[in-house]
Formats: sequence, C-alpha cells, structure tokens
Amino acid sequence: MRNGWTVFDLLWLVVFVGGGLAIGGRVHGSVGAVVGACLGFGLLSALGRLLRQEAERQPPCQCGVVGSPFKTSHDQKIKMIVSTCSSCGRVYAQQRGSIWNEVLPDGHLTPIMRRTFLGGWKSIEKNSV
Ligand SMILES: [Zn+2]
Repeated sequence: MRNGWTVFDLLWLVVFVGGGLAIGGRVHGSVGAVVGACLGFGLLSALGRLLRQEAERQPPCQCGVVGSPFKTSHDQKIKMIVSTCSSCGRVYAQQRGSIWNEVLPDGHLTPIMRRTFLGGWKSIEKNSV
C-alpha cells in the first residue's frame, strides 16, 4: 500500500544499523562493525516484513467465511481502501490500521473490530462506541 521510506523507517534504520555498527565495532574492530551493521539491517528488514504482514491481516467477515475472502479496491465515495467479501458482498474499510469498519450502503462506517496490541482483532461492543 505504501512505498518508500518514512522518517520512522529511517529512525529505525539508524538505531539498528548504528547499534550493530557500535556493538560489532567494540567486539571485533572494523570488520566487526561492518558485520554488525549488516546484521542490524537484516534484523530490521525481517522485523519490518513481519510487522507489515501483521498490519495487512484482516479479521474474518461477519458471514463466517474463514481465510481471506476479501478483494481490496479504492472506494471513490469514502476515499479509502476497502475490502469486499467475495462470499457475501459486505464491504469493509480499515481505518488507520487499527479500526475495522463495515461500510454501509449509504457510505457510513460502522466500527466492527478493534486491533489489539498483538495484532489480533477484538470485536467492538456497539454500545461502547
Ligand atoms: Zn462475507
């Protein structure tokens, strides 16, 4: 969905590569510093890939179909990326990565699920919103 580097990505790059550089350099001189920097970069990209995968994971549809039955597209009306269930046709929109809304036929969003800290999904009680 998003390409290129953000400020945060660069910050993490500095922390991991710089950290590896410093630790490696202390342990094994300049060779250690290069190896440490490479390891730091490898660790960062592995972590980034994992987090991105988690961010793209979607909760199950309300019709009960398991797996990922969704087709994503860009909705012109609500100006968001939406996921359409290929089984029942319900449309969902993910807001800021953490709120999973059902898109009603009139274009209104109803929050259905909230993402938990560990990347799972928890349903939102309708009364508490
Ligand atoms: Zn469905």
